[in-house]
Amino acid sequence: MKSVFLESRGIIKIKDINDINNIPEGFIKIKVKSVGICGSDIHYYFNGSIGNFVLEKPMILGHETAGIAESNANNIRKGDIVAIEPGLPCGKCKYCKTGRYNLCPDVKFFATPPVDGSLREYIVYPEEFVYNASGLTTDEASLAEPMSVGIYATRKAGIGPENNVLIVGSGSVGILTAFSAEAHGSNVTLCDINIDKIKYARKCGFAAFLNDKIHDKYDNVFECSGMAAEFALDRTEKGGDLFLIGMGNKCGLNPLYITSNEITVHGIFRYNNTFNDAIKIIKKYRNRIKPFLEKKICIDDLDSYMKNKEYEKYLKTIVEL
Ligand SMILES: [Zn+2]
Ligand SMILES: [Zn+2]
Repeated sequence: MKSVFLESRGIIKIKDINDINNIPEGFIKIKVKSVGICGSDIHYYFNGSIGNFVLEKPMILGHETAGIAESNANNIRKGDIVAIEPGLPCGKCKYCKTGRYNLCPDVKFFATPPVDGSLREYIVYPEEFVYNASGLTTDEASLAEPMSVGIYATRKAGIGPENNVLIVGSGSVGILTAFSAEAHGSNVTLCDINIDKIKYARKCGFAAFLNDKIHDKYDNVFECSGMAAEFALDRTEKGGDLFLIGMGNKCGLNPLYITSNEITVHGIFRYNNTFNDAIKIIKKYRNRIKPFLEKKICIDDLDSYMKNKEYEKYLKTIVEL
């Protein structure tokens, strides 16, 4: 089966590896159809590492995955459209045992060295991490992974119709977090420093503005850009909650402001138990989510797509297999 390897920094190779015919008990075979390209795939392509995760041997890219079931499982029949959760936790540590499996130190997460990702024709995967997405297209279902981040953050926030929500950073995670907040009934505003991203948020039906147009303070602020934590804190209302989702914030937050305004700061890392909700919210907003599906490429185009930085022009790119 064809598989898309990141050989080393800046080099993508499509290789034919052995197909998997043996399906162990409790596993399901999936024909992969749609894989969304994420910032982390791009980062590994250009840098060969993210933090402590260093590419030391060729690795298959991709973790935002949907496909068609090739075998039956609990809630899935052969032919159903499915979304795949990319992280397999150990199931034994204290985090796994208390349901916070996103913090598992031994999680095996697609396309995080040395674990191979999902950009390959077939995957055999534990059925408990495969979700029925019947009624969606595989392109839509591949959004369940990035949508999960927003679901997890808004669930932790416990928001509702009484809350004013500001989302800082109008990239794909920011906008998907906005859908999740709106689904909870909250009043949502997005902001960014990039006018093209604001245009995408508006195309998805949200109120979105440049950062310097945001003067109000909000009950719940979600920092999704990885670059504007100080700004996000400054826009958090007294007694409010700040959620840090974006990676890469390097600034220091003002402890006096946090203390004197009694602001709660939350770190958000990936997600747990979110995929079924993510699939429901994608269904609910499928018309407004269309800007996420504007750019599709095939695996042969991925290398030039990366080299030419084409991803900068789109909210999301989906590789179709
Ligand atoms: Zn992702
Ligand atoms: Zn664990």
